[in-house]
Amino acid sequence: MNYGEALKSGAEYLRSREIADAEYDAWYLMEFAGHISRAEYLLRRMEKMPKEVYIRYEELLRERGKRIPLQHLTGEQEFMGLSFTVNERVLIPRQDTELLVEEALKRLRPGARVLDLCTGSGCIAISLKKIRPDLDVTASDLSGQALEIARENAKRLRADVDFVQSDLLEELSGAFDMILSNPPYIPTKTIDTLMEEVRFHDPKMALDGGADGLFFYRRIIAESKSHLTRGGWLIFEIGHDQGETVSHMMMEGSYTGVRVIKDLSGLDRVVVGTWHEEDL
Ligand code: GLN
Repeated sequence: MNYGEALKSGAEYLRSREIADAEYDAWYLMEFAGHISRAEYLLRRMEKMPKEVYIRYEELLRERGKRIPLQHLTGEQEFMGLSFTVNERVLIPRQDTELLVEEALKRLRPGARVLDLCTGSGCIAISLKKIRPDLDVTASDLSGQALEIARENAKRLRADVDFVQSDLLEELSGAFDMILSNPPYIPTKTIDTLMEEVRFHDPKMALDGGADGLFFYRRIIAESKSHLTRGGWLIFEIGHDQGETVSHMMMEGSYTGVRVIKDLSGLDRVVVGTWHEEDL
């Protein structure tokens, strides 16, 4: 079978397994199995695919057909133009989360001290540090296994980020100019309705936001007050239906200038506000 035929039949197979982005996934699995770039593929489409590549490619297609996420098969996901190592111990970085990073960047003064809570793969903290090496970036997660991956990513991408294992802010001291987080925010009951790739392969711990999905927002909003500088920013990624609730929670918690920011699809995606110490 030549490369062109293999790609076509791979996509057909994935489509028959009802995989949403069948063509796209078949291509990435072929690229991964055959170490072949798009340009090379276009030149070599009619060439026979070596047997060992074909065997590996078929194996990967079968795994993908069983709804193992593409990123767990290739072991990586791109985020903010950087390649992050991922496995079943961390949430696969989502494109949507890039908006959180972009909004954070707009607000960070030179040399600011930043804390990323629930860092998972480390994608937020590491991309901030890569884009703005002047920042002093700390990242925490409750999961030691996630931190192992985050540290590995920071090392490979040469980003000088401090990682701390902590239940939110418990193990952290000092004041930050910004605390940002994409915490778990799916209501527990909703997890069972998510696509198989997510509900069986992303860590439950990275998805589960408690009965109403707001458990982490509630805690972070309360606990950040003693860890933010005057005028410091608190900035969250949220679920598309949580904008109003989370912004109210922040206002009730005495944060000011609270705003909801929409993503490119017009959905509420980020909430931001600042902390001014309450006058005694
Ligand atoms: N901060 C990480 C990310 O955005 C992990 C988030 C999580 O585990 N909920 O990908």
